[in-house]
Amino acid sequence: MLQISSPAQPFDAIVVGSGATGGWAAKQLTEAGMRVGLLEAGQKVTRKDFTEHTQSWQLPFLGMSPHIRKDRPIQGLCYACTEYNYKWFVNDTENPYTQAKPYRWIRQRVLGGRSLSWGRQSYRMSDLDFKAATHDGYGDDWPVSYAEMVPYYEQVERYVGISGERLGLPQLPTASFFRRWK
Ligand SMILES: Cc1cc2nc3c(=O)[nH]c(=O)nc-3n(C[C@H](O)[C@H](O)[C@H](O)COP(=O)(O)OP(=O)(O)OC[C@H]3O[C@@H](n4cnc5c(N)ncnc54)[C@H](O)[C@@H]3O)c2cc1C
Repeated sequence: MLQISSPAQPFDAIVVGSGATGGWAAKQLTEAGMRVGLLEAGQKVTRKDFTEHTQSWQLPFLGMSPHIRKDRPIQGLCYACTEYNYKWFVNDTENPYTQAKPYRWIRQRVLGGRSLSWGRQSYRMSDLDFKAATHDGYGDDWPVSYAEMVPYYEQVERYVGISGERLGLPQLPTASFFRRWK
């Protein structure tokens, strides 16, 4: 998706990629009144592209498309890359990995990015993550703490409508749930 800026109406900000990160950034900046250009390398999706209610016997290859094995040998290792949606994932032959060792990094090129296929598990990180170096001596602490992140977690959780169980685990701080699990 490409919107062209003009000298009369220049963009205040350009966001590259419409996934969870870029999509949210574009939403926040636009709502703050900025004129935002969003650059997306992947295909646009329309309602007809969401085919999860199609039966596998209605698919050309009964759910076992040879295109996945042929063009997406890495992406096809991901459980979510199926005949229903493999075109959302990068073509591995056109986008090869440069690592010599096997490397499995799942990449999508589609409007919305991996938010179209994520597993819907929504966790908060804790200071065991943000301040990991203080805990185990490796690497560097993040420049932000869990307490500083809480308002931002709450904002996203409220918008997305996260639900779940209050387990009280220190490593996975409880989210602001939209509604309780029954
Ligand atoms: C199968 C699966 C299940 C997952 N389940 C979970 C889960 O349950 N919980 C969880 O927290 N996380 C989960 N994740 C991870 C989560 O989905 C990602 O971390 C998150 O969506 C990444 O968002 P992002 O915006 O950083 O990247 P992406 O969503 O990958 O977005 C990147 C965007 O940039 C575009 N792009 C790339 N290059 C260019 C370019 N040069 N120019 C313009 N556009 C470009 C891409 O097309 C894409 O739209 C899962 C991931 C996968 C693949």
